[in-house]
Amino acid sequence: MEQNVIEQVFGKDVFNDEVMKEKLPKDVYKSWKKTLENGEDLNQDIANVVAHAMKEWALEHGATHYTHWFQPMTGITAEKHDSFLSPASDSKPVLEFSGKELIKGEPDASSFPSGGLRATFEARGYTAWDCTSPAFLREDAAGVTLCIPTAFCSYTGEALDKKTPLLRSMEALSKQAVRIVKLFGYDDVKKVSCSVGPEQEYFLVDRDKYLQRKDLIFTGRTLFGAPAPKGQELDDHYFGTIKERIASFMKDLNIELWKLGILSKTQHNEVAPAQHEMAPIFTTANISTDHNQLVMEIMKKVAKRHNLECLLHEKPFAGVNGSGKHDNWSIVTDTGINLLDPGKKPHENKLFLLTLAAVIKAVDDNAELLRLSASSPGNDHRLGANEAPPAIISIFLGEQLEDIIEQIVRGDVSSSIQGEKLDTGVHVLPVLKKDATDRNRTSPFAFTGNKFEFRMLGSSMSIAGPNFTLNAMVADVLQDFADELEQAEDFDTAVDALIKKTVTEHQRIIFNGDGYSDDWVEEAEKRGLPNIKSMVEAIPYLASEKSVKLFERQNVMTKAELESRVEINYENYSKTINIEAKTMIDMAGKQFIPSIIKYTTSLADSITKVQAACPTADVSVQTELLTKTSSLLASAQKALTALEAAVAEADTKEEGKEQALFFRKVVFADMETLRAPIDELEMIVDKTFWPVPTYGDLLFEV
Ligand code: ADP
Ligand code: MG
Repeated sequence: MEQNVIEQVFGKDVFNDEVMKEKLPKDVYKSWKKTLENGEDLNQDIANVVAHAMKEWALEHGATHYTHWFQPMTGITAEKHDSFLSPASDSKPVLEFSGKELIKGEPDASSFPSGGLRATFEARGYTAWDCTSPAFLREDAAGVTLCIPTAFCSYTGEALDKKTPLLRSMEALSKQAVRIVKLFGYDDVKKVSCSVGPEQEYFLVDRDKYLQRKDLIFTGRTLFGAPAPKGQELDDHYFGTIKERIASFMKDLNIELWKLGILSKTQHNEVAPAQHEMAPIFTTANISTDHNQLVMEIMKKVAKRHNLECLLHEKPFAGVNGSGKHDNWSIVTDTGINLLDPGKKPHENKLFLLTLAAVIKAVDDNAELLRLSASSPGNDHRLGANEAPPAIISIFLGEQLEDIIEQIVRGDVSSSIQGEKLDTGVHVLPVLKKDATDRNRTSPFAFTGNKFEFRMLGSSMSIAGPNFTLNAMVADVLQDFADELEQAEDFDTAVDALIKKTVTEHQRIIFNGDGYSDDWVEEAEKRGLPNIKSMVEAIPYLASEKSVKLFERQNVMTKAELESRVEINYENYSKTINIEAKTMIDMAGKQFIPSIIKYTTSLADSITKVQAACPTADVSVQTELLTKTSSLLASAQKALTALEAAVAEADTKEEGKEQALFFRKVVFADMETLRAPIDELEMIVDKTFWPVPTYGDLLFEV
């Protein structure tokens, strides 16, 4: 029988455990594993042997180059390739790769955003091997390249990337969680890690049409566009049958992902037309982060093979749903205990309840930070817009856990509501056991069985930020818990008291209702929960006194690193809106307005010609259209001039907060004012004059 394609390709391009076991001498393999398991420093001799094996393996697979693969603050990945070629004494090439080259790289990376951490003249940056995420091969037009996942730091050791704080946060969480589980008697636990499974949403559009839209090319989203006659109102795309062309994309995508050991699991059509989703099986946070970067990259690459373009922007089309990323997160020991698994009788599961209490406290205490971690210029279009979670952070626990929390607060814990039988009333259907809790699509932070689902993330963002934020804040609470419990005279009483105190104090963050309703906005305000409406308003919280204290205590980020990230965030916001505004100016001035003028001329021609041919003919339609079009055209030109002035003024503002606020308050509003008349014109102008494909063309003709 022919081997299944998954078995054939899975992990084929990864220097994984199996390959290492085969390639490394036994003793080296053993000490390597120990290094990984105990999180110890890597010994140079071992690194040399690993590097040699890695090179041999890569050469066998046709690799000519290697690269340190890193994740600078741009949110995407970066790489600089070196060939294995080394100077040799005779004319024959020698292919080399040393332990030193494996461990450390030095890209002259002065052009990456550093938020003032490095001046351009102090350009040194180092990449350091993250040996916990396996190296992999990538094939493209340049040939086969060995990619080594790395972290990226400055000469003085400051993090210049998203990976370093993530790795630091994983250590912090592990350290504190190990203390907690030991208190519960699990003495064999050496390490605790966080598991992450990110669900990735995306759009696919025809590439020929995509190439006719400068807004999609330059900004990833449509800056103009009237709604198509049909949107998502029939709910006929969600989980609908997948079209052939999309199915063949998905097949190719899966194969590419499986080759890299990425556990691509589910795929389906999403709510909006042309929108889809892929979810992998969860894995350790840093690997999951690397994988998600690869997923986004490979989605774009594979789409092109099918003459499609993959849009990862949070809001490519106004009026239909945008794309997000659900970050499923849990804490698991190296012995396999999931601290967020409630078990059959959650009310008796103290370790679970304590962990749950810690998460509840962490989220309530750091709601602003969590909100910021999911902020991006693109995500501003979604959060709070009734298609994604509201911008207000709250926790959904579901009926069962909320009931237990109430019992704890009351002080008489006796039972857990159990999932009932689901009876469909049809005898031939099996009777199913229901989950103890229903789901809630409107919650930003929902408990879903044995994990939390942080549902605010934007589709294009790296998941590193949200996860290091979560890890750091939960580690910080666990540290206080461990400090207190380690001193307790009677552990059981102390745990009960601590759980009760914590959930009582933080009950306000729990909300099981409809997060889209206006009532909730009011109610949340009464509860004192922050409602931060935009990215720009969220940024300052990153370097607030509270945040600095938290991140420094957990050794995840220093004050200087946080302050640099504040600058990078402001800069990123301003630059993004600036590009969008300039693209609008370009499209309006060079495409829409000239096309509309041509159309008005054709109307005028028609009026004069028809009247000349037949003086009694009725030209009221042309005249009405001409009047309306000309008036909208004038509004468009006026708005264009205003937007040009606003962009020029933005340039005079001080970089950072002031400029970002100006972009948010003035430029962004002026963009809307320009869009309105053009979108209205799109509905009346003869389609043959319209210079770009419309929403209908893009969303329904894939
Ligand atoms: P849904 O869309 O119903 O939320 P999916 O199956 O699309 O569910 O995605 C759920 C995600 O959660 C998957 O990536 C899955 O691997 C992940 N997941 C499941 N259990 C855990 C866990 N314990 N920790 C982290 N992620 C998990
Ligand atoms: Mg989900």
